[in-house]
This record gives sequence, C-alpha cells and structure tokens, in this order.
Amino acid sequence: MFTRYIYIIALALILCSCTSVVKKSDKPAVITTNSMIADIVRNVAGEFVTVESIMPPGIDPHQYKASEGDVVKLAGADLIFHNGLSLEGKLGKVLERTQKQVLSYPITQYMPRDQFIVDMNTPDPHVWFDPQMWVYAINCVADALVQIDPANTLYYRKNEETYIRELLQLNENSKARLDTVPMNKRILITSHNAFRYFGRAYGWEVLGVQGMNTNSETSVYSIQALADTVMRRGVECVFTETSVPYRSIEALTASVIALGGNLKHCGVLYSDSLGVAGSDIDSYEKIFEYNLDTIINGVLNEQ
Ligand SMILES: [Zn+2]
Repeated sequence: MFTRYIYIIALALILCSCTSVVKKSDKPAVITTNSMIADIVRNVAGEFVTVESIMPPGIDPHQYKASEGDVVKLAGADLIFHNGLSLEGKLGKVLERTQKQVLSYPITQYMPRDQFIVDMNTPDPHVWFDPQMWVYAINCVADALVQIDPANTLYYRKNEETYIRELLQLNENSKARLDTVPMNKRILITSHNAFRYFGRAYGWEVLGVQGMNTNSETSVYSIQALADTVMRRGVECVFTETSVPYRSIEALTASVIALGGNLKHCGVLYSDSLGVAGSDIDSYEKIFEYNLDTIINGVLNEQ
C-alpha cells in the first residue's frame, strides 16, 4: 500500500515537471530574428505576448548562423517575424523550413516595392532607418498579432496607433535637427552601407566602406576610391558600427593618411542591432536618437 502511494506521488511529480517544461507561459510566444523587430512587438503587444530576438545585441545579422537552440525556439513559436529582404542571409534555409509549420511574416511585406533602394537587383534590407518605412513594419506586426490573438484586437490597434505617432514625431524632430547641419557637412561614411534609407529620408549623402552586407571583403580598389572621395570632398569624420569589425574603417583611415589627409573617428553607430537590454540604448527610438546625436556632433566637430 505504502509503495503504491509513493508510486502515485512520483508519477504526479513527473507529470507536473513535464508540463512545466513544455508550457512555460500561456501567452503567445513571438520570436523575431533581430532586436529592432522585437522592439516593435514589445511596443504593440505589451505584456500580452512573450517576445524574444534570437540574435543577441551587437550581432551582425548578415553573418549570423542559427544555433540548435534557435531552431528549437523558432519551431516552438506561435508567430515569427523576420526582415524579408535577405538581411539574415545565413538563416534563409532555417526560416524557410520553419515557416512551413509556424505562422511567419516578413516585416517588409507591406512596404511599397518602388520605395526599396535596389543594388544589382537586390533590395537593401536596412529599411528601419527611415521611420516612415518602418511604420509599414508596425502595421505588419499589429495585423499578425490580431490574427493570432483576436480577443485583444483593440489593445493592439491602440498601441499600433500610438507607436506610429511616436515614430512620425521622431521623424519630424530628426529632420528639423539634421536640417541645421550645413549642406557641405551632410556626408556620412560608415563601415557598411546600412544608412542609405536614412540618407534618402533626410537628404544626406551616405557611403559605406563595405556594401549593403558584410559578407565580402572590401577590395583595395574600393578603399582607394573612397579615400579619393574623402580627400576631394574634404570629409573629416568617419563612424564605425557596433555590429561590424573596425578593420574596414582602419584601412580607409590609413589610405587617407597615405594621401596626406586625416580622418577622425567620430563615434560608434548602432546600425543593425539595438544595445543591451536594460541599457540606455535598448530600443529603436533610443538608438535612433543616439545615432542622431553622434552623427550631428561628429560632423560639426562638437563631440
Ligand atoms: Zn547591415
């Protein structure tokens, strides 16, 4: 009798522990590829879903490969968001497989095709640095949340509207601040071409030492050509990025010095990733303002 009693308790404990492992939360689980997309989900869904970006802060999305843990997270999600313009080039096959089982959306799907910056038939994926383009991503996230959790439609729609209003205000404020910079200073040189939507939105010329992804090594020829541009245009200032190694900017600086010029490192920009969660730069709006301060102070030589 006693043995049987122990057996029943043990069985109950096993069942309890299995249940807790399989089901961590009753909320829908949303997985995103990168931190900027996760930030939209947090703004629109609040506490109504759990959200996690599989890429940690500071990671280069062009180079990121899925771990076994990422594959498990993606397969266990209720909803997945990714960029959709090959930003996460090395996750392509994993995302393709997962989207057969899990509802998945590319956050660029509502953006007008003719608004993409295209290079060699490939759309530039760094759409987030034009807040007016990023608004379409907010619409996409809100629609998908309503689809998986219609009971909270009003809540998601209200947050969608508020967040869009905030970003449009951010856009207006940024435009006003950037317009104060003299025309001849409005040139932004960074490690890779992540800021072309920013340049188009605010009338700045943008040049990256590497192209719109970080996969290929930069050629000596392109470094030399950029160094010539720096000399010709009298550019004084370059910026590195948190998610890209500094070596391409170091090579450019060395080429400019070899030509008798000088190039100052004017700060580190957040291009393809947010900062660490809980820091001063852990949201889209915060990195946008941080980048703006760094760029303006840098080119005006006021940092
Ligand atoms: Zn990039």
